[in-house]
Amino acid sequence: MEAARAGRAQAGLLRQTRTCDVLGGDRRLVDGRVLADFCGNDYLGLAGHRHLVAAFTRTAAAEGVGTGAAHLVAGHRGEHAALEEELADWTGRERALLFSTGVMANLGTLQALLSAGAMPVQGRTGALCVQDRLNHASLVDGAHLAGAELRRYPHVDAHGAARQLDARPGLPALVATDGVFSMDGDVAPLAMLATICQERGAMLYVDDAHGLGVMGPQGAGSVAAAGLGAKDVPVLMGTLGKALGCAGAFVAGDASVIEAITQFARTYVYTTAMPAALAAATRAAIRLVRTDPEGRRDRLGANIARFRAGAAQLGLRLMPSTTAIQPLLIGSTGAAMAAAATLEAAGFLVVAIRPPTVPPGGARLRITLSATHTPKRIDALLDALGRLPRALESAAV
Ligand code: PMP
Repeated sequence: MEAARAGRAQAGLLRQTRTCDVLGGDRRLVDGRVLADFCGNDYLGLAGHRHLVAAFTRTAAAEGVGTGAAHLVAGHRGEHAALEEELADWTGRERALLFSTGVMANLGTLQALLSAGAMPVQGRTGALCVQDRLNHASLVDGAHLAGAELRRYPHVDAHGAARQLDARPGLPALVATDGVFSMDGDVAPLAMLATICQERGAMLYVDDAHGLGVMGPQGAGSVAAAGLGAKDVPVLMGTLGKALGCAGAFVAGDASVIEAITQFARTYVYTTAMPAALAAATRAAIRLVRTDPEGRRDRLGANIARFRAGAAQLGLRLMPSTTAIQPLLIGSTGAAMAAAATLEAAGFLVVAIRPPTVPPGGARLRITLSATHTPKRIDALLDALGRLPRALESAAV
């Protein structure tokens, strides 16, 4: 353990917890300094919205804070049931099931669906899980937890997914992909993956942590944005802690799949239900996201366009993303760390993402945009980024 930690320290890859207090809007207090947050996932700025805060406090006052039990014991409240129904309706599925976090949703669902007995394909043992190489860590861990045979394909290469499925014909198979990739911001080839899965009788699982709320009609996510429905993507996972401004996650699908997950997902069965107040706040968030009365999705879209246009003028190496995640590829870990420190000195909180979160040599600044950013703030960040190259050269390792 100590040797592993020392190895990370020597490579400049140790991570550090910092306290980032919220001062309102995009402003954070970090180590006594006020910084503009360009690294969070509160894409619509809903975390501090008065409707969410009112729903949360009202419900906590009436029902208390903790639920005190798992859903299947005595922790399931009316607010949870109502939220599950609204999530199912919003995403166009028969049923939805709440989890306490996205990591737990991925671990539990893959473990349940891929373990012998829970997979809808009956009468066989062992299962195949095919995944994009850049999927979220919890999807990879879920396949391992299930004891499934894990095969990965090159990033966004749907034909690569088909080849992996064809290499192991006859096994019950599940293909899992991020809808929007968390560290790259690009979108999975969902329509092609859906066709490939249908042709081969494989189940498609999409983790839409970063698409839900910001993409598609009524913000229903990357799957809806691709014109796909429940038949194409039988299992849809979404998180509540990003565009919805809350915390937690859900998995949605037809009643039989959700029933299997309810029975077998250990991260669902054996954990305390999320606070009812959080479910109430999430319902308020869904109402805002579906109708978007304040035009937050449009504002986010305008901010993304402004940032990309400004970056192009400066000749910055942005990755090809149209979403709120706009990474600036740097390469070496040392240079990415130096760039983040330079931006911080200029008043911006932008985090350097390093291996093993991204591949070796792929260190980057993961810049994220939100509806709360003003055009002036975005221009100020661009100005600071435009000054970076010299600092980067001097710090490159
Ligand atoms: N999936 C993806 C693609 C994510 O980016 C994240 C958040 N880092 C998660 C799952 C986990 O969600 P949570 O933070 O709710 O555990």
